[in-house]
Amino acid sequence: MRTLIISDIHANRTALDAVLSNAEPFDRVWCLGDVVGYGPDPEDCINRLKGLPNLLCMKGNHDAAVSGDIPLDAFNYSAQKALLWMTENISEDNIFWLKELSERKVIDAVTFVHGSPRWPFWEYITDVSIARENMEKFDTQICLVGHTHFPSVFEMNDSDVSSTAFVIKKVDEPFTLAEKCIVNPGSVGQPRDHNPMASYLTFDDQEGTWCYHRVPYDILQVQKRIRAAGLPKRQADRLSEGW
Ligand code: ZN
Repeated sequence: MRTLIISDIHANRTALDAVLSNAEPFDRVWCLGDVVGYGPDPEDCINRLKGLPNLLCMKGNHDAAVSGDIPLDAFNYSAQKALLWMTENISEDNIFWLKELSERKVIDAVTFVHGSPRWPFWEYITDVSIARENMEKFDTQICLVGHTHFPSVFEMNDSDVSSTAFVIKKVDEPFTLAEKCIVNPGSVGQPRDHNPMASYLTFDDQEGTWCYHRVPYDILQVQKRIRAAGLPKRQADRLSEGW
């Protein structure tokens, strides 16, 4: 079975479509949350996700805000403005769909959360020390996270009690994972690692291998839609730089 692993789509349907067609064929989809927020296409993105095979989708902090679980004033001004716009541009059915998403799930050897196993909505696993503190907060081999918009792998090795961390650099090259690790596929709709291309992972459970991918998409078109919707200009500008 081939699994597509995505996160932080952030209402960018052009990036999502590019990932979906680039990743084909796949039998299952794992999404680590933040389907909405920032971008111009929340409704389209939710509808596309709903149509994907064997979807497991986690609830991100932006999804939680739009569905009323956490207050908008927990976000910075620009994110808040976009979230308010989301609440007015997502159908009731899809708000309900967001509300029903899980904060934390464990399936087989994998734990799923948006931010971190310690604080699923808010913690950013950005460095080795934060990753190390989180290693004891899940019991499975792998914990999949999103939230930082930064593709990364943090591994706990037997020979070394401390963790090692690296940003995945080799695109389209299969790799295997250590006994205990935290993995982030990066962001589909708003990468922040200074690479504007949409980021995702695939997993082949027959081979036991993972693969990291980047795919270009029509950023100008999305920027135009962000401006036309009256969403904060910053959310358009950042896409071409990947931050
Ligand atoms: Zn996000």
